[in-house]
Amino acid sequence: MQTRFKRVLLKVGGESLLGERPYGIDPQAALRVAEQIKKIYVENVEIALVMGGGNIFRGVAGEKNGIDRATADYMGMLATVMNGLALQDALEKIGVPTRVQSALQMPAVAESFIRRRAIRHMQKGRVVILVAGTGVPYVTTDTGASLHGLELRCNVLMKATKVDGIYDKDPQKFPDAKRFKMLTFEDAIKMDGIEVMDTAALAMCKENNMPVMVFELFKGENLVRAIRGEDVGTYVSNEVKTEFTE
Ligand code: UDP
Repeated sequence: MQTRFKRVLLKVGGESLLGERPYGIDPQAALRVAEQIKKIYVENVEIALVMGGGNIFRGVAGEKNGIDRATADYMGMLATVMNGLALQDALEKIGVPTRVQSALQMPAVAESFIRRRAIRHMQKGRVVILVAGTGVPYVTTDTGASLHGLELRCNVLMKATKVDGIYDKDPQKFPDAKRFKMLTFEDAIKMDGIEVMDTAALAMCKENNMPVMVFELFKGENLVRAIRGEDVGTYVSNEVKTEFTE
């Protein structure tokens, strides 16, 4: 198979581990995520995966309930560690070797993030699961994903979400919403109100020319198709013209 991208940063939001639960981790959902990842792993794509934590804890929500924001953010980072371990378990159950690296030191459960080591793991055919985001508060795992994607020299940041791309308006509220096939970073950043990805993370990708692909993980063979360069989701780059799907 011809793959368009050799090394990818895959950002998996915590919600993908929810299954039917309102909160927490459903091991079956983790297995479904793992199965999708395996489909590109077997095509020899190098994968660095940044795990979110929103299914367990988000700093902003903690702050609303009276916890100091920085403390709440550290709690959110710890949530990503739990998710990362759940996904490691699921991936290894289906024969995909992994390593978990954490931006917060936690030697008993994960390696510490070391850039060159992460690259080596990928070269040796291991999926590197990056947890604890950036290791600092006041940002989200989207920023962790763009930073790690850049330093690990990934060809693309693939953001797996619940919606199948970026729309001109909220598709759940407006039936006439149209999906973008391609979008310039400039236009994506202007559409601030449309919650696709943190603007700070998008701006970093724009400045450093790392394209972003927004797609729905559980829809058909989306991940494999996206890797082949087929039209799934929305591709955001400095090198395209903004256009809608037909
Ligand atoms: N977080 C943080 N710094 C980081 C990454 C994450 O403080 O570099 C915290 C933040 O509180 C965030 C939570 O961890 O809300 C969980 O991550 P996120 O909300 O990005 O998870 P996702 O929406 O991807 O599931």
